[in-house]
Amino acid sequence: MNAVESKKIWLSSPHMGGTEQDYVKQAFDTNWVAPLGPNVDGFENDIENYLGNNSHVAAISSGTAGLHLGLQLLGVSHGDEVLCQSLTFAASANPITYLGAKPVFIDSERETWNICPEQLEIAIKDRISKGKTPKAIIAVHLYGMPYLVEKIHKVASDYNIPILEDSAESLGSSYHGIKCGTFGDIAILSFNGNKIITTSGGGALIAKSSELKEKAIFLSTQARDNAPHYQHSEIGYNYRMSNIIAGIGRGQMEVLEKHVGYRRNNFDYYKKNLSDLSEVKFLEEPKGFYSNRWLTCIETTSYEVREKLRLALAKENIESRPLWKPMHLQPVFADCDAYLNGISDDLFDRGLCLPSGSNLEEEDLFRIVSVIKNELR
Ligand SMILES: *Cc1c(COP(=O)(O)O)cnc(C)c1O
Repeated sequence: MNAVESKKIWLSSPHMGGTEQDYVKQAFDTNWVAPLGPNVDGFENDIENYLGNNSHVAAISSGTAGLHLGLQLLGVSHGDEVLCQSLTFAASANPITYLGAKPVFIDSERETWNICPEQLEIAIKDRISKGKTPKAIIAVHLYGMPYLVEKIHKVASDYNIPILEDSAESLGSSYHGIKCGTFGDIAILSFNGNKIITTSGGGALIAKSSELKEKAIFLSTQARDNAPHYQHSEIGYNYRMSNIIAGIGRGQMEVLEKHVGYRRNNFDYYKKNLSDLSEVKFLEEPKGFYSNRWLTCIETTSYEVREKLRLALAKENIESRPLWKPMHLQPVFADCDAYLNGISDDLFDRGLCLPSGSNLEEEDLFRIVSVIKNELR
């Protein structure tokens, strides 16, 4: 096959389970075509039951909206500082600036690639010594791998700083049997088109109490006071999820566990077929960690090897991507402080995300593995 004829293999594409359109049709049939209705309530219920651990879920328009609302609910406002994992997608950090606060970036550790507890503590001490206690910490379970939950939460509680848990990539992951998305003072999920389940676009905010959940819904529906006329004592947002979109989510929740299984199988296939190559290394789960393997990422031996593989795959119509470019290297955050150990720079240089959709066929995986083996032979 040549590149023109071969089927495009995406990094992570939507994968419908089959019942999504039934829920959407119900919404049409009953005329619940609005940002509220039975699908919204049902979807929230489904997620709460799935996550357990006293989770109270508000369905909203995106993960980014969740981070924005979450930071506001944690009391972040103009002039504050928020510590944020540097190796992540820009959506983790952007909402800090929506509130007029300033991100301070923290490097990663090698075990999970997530926020480093040592750098985190160094940063907190340094910011305090400079006269400003950080208002919140944004920790991310990147590519589905849980961060060092106990260590990170210990540091946070030692200094009494709340954690906003960015679980956008980690629905279905868990840490010692407890689901990701239930560790932070507030957590968020994303249902964007490339995530483990998708509603085409959407998100959720997870709170520890029904009061906080209600406050999130209040803010996401324009902060209307309880009055017959339209009265407002606070600035609100239009961030609620539509009942149509929530219908897709209800169908997707039925296949979530299956999708996690498929993604974990992708990881196993890659590992089985590539781990005898000396140029390729995989990120293993530390004991007690369970990753949804949203994306399978490999660590190559150099930037050159990484690029060679990426270009060879692209030539065969196969999408792969370098790891997230760390936020402390982003032009838009050039004036932000960062606490660095070199690890995220190094991972960005050498890391590559491989196609990881739950809808990949065995022949797709075979094609990908063959290209990589050929290049490294
Ligand atoms: C996708 C993603 C988000 C943003 O979610 P949206 O629903 O796309 O707004 C935030 N953080 C991380 C780590 C993500 O991968």
